[in-house]
Amino acid sequence: MAVQTLDDLLAEGVSGRGVLVRSDLNVPLDGGKITDPGRIIASVPTLKALADAGAKVIVTAHLGRPKGGVDPAFSLAPVATALSERLGRHVQLAGDVVGTDALARAEGLTDGDVLLLENIRFDPRETSKDDSERLALAKALVELVGEDGAFVSDGFGVVHRKQASVYDVATLLPHYAGTLVAAEVKVLQQLTSSSERPYAVVLGGSKVSDKLAVIENLATKADSIVIGGGMCFTFLAAQGVSVGTSLLQEEMIDTCRQLLETYGDVIHLPVDIVVAEKFAADSPAETVWADSIPADKMGLDIGPESVKRFTKLLSNARTIFWNGPMGVFEFPAFAAGTKGVAEAIVAATGKGAFSVVGGGDSAAAVRQLGLPEDGFSHISTGGGASLEYLEGKTLPGIEVLN
Ligand code: ADP
Ligand code: MG
Repeated sequence: MAVQTLDDLLAEGVSGRGVLVRSDLNVPLDGGKITDPGRIIASVPTLKALADAGAKVIVTAHLGRPKGGVDPAFSLAPVATALSERLGRHVQLAGDVVGTDALARAEGLTDGDVLLLENIRFDPRETSKDDSERLALAKALVELVGEDGAFVSDGFGVVHRKQASVYDVATLLPHYAGTLVAAEVKVLQQLTSSSERPYAVVLGGSKVSDKLAVIENLATKADSIVIGGGMCFTFLAAQGVSVGTSLLQEEMIDTCRQLLETYGDVIHLPVDIVVAEKFAADSPAETVWADSIPADKMGLDIGPESVKRFTKLLSNARTIFWNGPMGVFEFPAFAAGTKGVAEAIVAATGKGAFSVVGGGDSAAAVRQLGLPEDGFSHISTGGGASLEYLEGKTLPGIEVLN
């Protein structure tokens, strides 16, 4: 059976019904301020359609990784305010996840109201490995929407997670794919089924161990894999190069060595690196060859010669997937690598390549560095989810909608 979508739910009629929506509102924050509202903006169409149709909308989402309990630093309060503005409707924030305040507010909703539950990860059952614990939280969520409730899965960034608000709740309620999830899956299907060659993958960022796992799989599918960001140093180390104080995943060096042996002609590493003494915006930057990183310095960006080589590679690609910034783009002195590679992808897209950007920070980089969002074929809200899809893995949050 095909996945039911938001349109199917709207056709059934939602006026007066409680509809639980799992959104991805996990935006980057700096001192309580939202630095990139991309995920909030992407969540609006589904929420707006439901509220306009008179549903009692209850939104659940997470923010950051609070460690096993309530932590005011991870409150969704700034998100509720921003979502209200984007939605053009007041969004109430419950004081708890599924507690007395959430329940009272849910009962008080009238048609078209929107209630945001507090950070779902304040409840440790959300991410529990114990099925019965997750199911108990899912049941508490179901109670909020009542008897004739429905569940809309719209948090694409979390569909690769088997979590209570993503997976278990869908087993208890009639379930539908939201606008965002449906759109994301369509693009990824296009990327996997009909990718025109050459197919180039650009990988960077800081979640090194997560991403190393995908390279093996992508190496058999892509014509070239360009590696920068924090993950390139484990590869450089595998080549016997000393990487100073750069980000290094020592236990993965052997894996990287094997990958280089098997896929040496597919994997491309930077040849020069911008280094500094400290991980700080004002730490003086210097460009060195990748095999000459000083022992007391760390690599915070790829250098201009690497950008030149990567640009050449990307210029004739017909399909491009990019996940992870090439450097610490948040600091202007270390943003040039990310900007240069992003510009190369925009140029290739202009010549007809199909390009997809995945990853919260990569998407944020596009906007912060002033690149045109429409310069890419698609900017995905989910890094991990899109990577796992491209790897050919089953995404629990999508599977459960089938
Ligand atoms: P995405 O969210 O796009 O999947 P990640 O979360 O994996 O990307 O990584 C993004 C982070 O990686 C950025 O905050 C960036 O500052 C950081 N980063 C990039 N290059 C380096 C580096 N050389 N050393 C340390 N951190 C880096
Ligand atoms: Mg990230």
